[in-house]
Amino acid sequence: MDELTCDNCGTDDHLRGARDAEVIHIECEACGATWDRPLTPRCPTCGDDDLYVDKRPVIDKSRGTQLSIVGMNKVYLCRTCDAEEIHREWRHIRPGEHPAK
Ligand SMILES: [Zn+2]
Ligand SMILES: [Zn+2]
Repeated sequence: MDELTCDNCGTDDHLRGARDAEVIHIECEACGATWDRPLTPRCPTCGDDDLYVDKRPVIDKSRGTQLSIVGMNKVYLCRTCDAEEIHREWRHIRPGEHPAK
């Protein structure tokens, strides 16, 4: 479900969104209220927004064999389309094996 309504006047119409990196700037043209909404990632295959969020460490091979985690990558998996991959994740977690999509 993706109900978007204005907190101020309650309309779900007359809403304008401008996408910006990680958020959507929403403006209500009915009452003039503005607010930010986190960008909802969607499955590119089925468009569902019920996604499994997986955090995978970004491994950098620094100095020979020494592995160090340099950050975390957020990966969104669709519970429907990527069900198999999610199951694989649960069985054995090997950071860095699956490249981020
Ligand atoms: Zn409004
Ligand atoms: Zn999907």
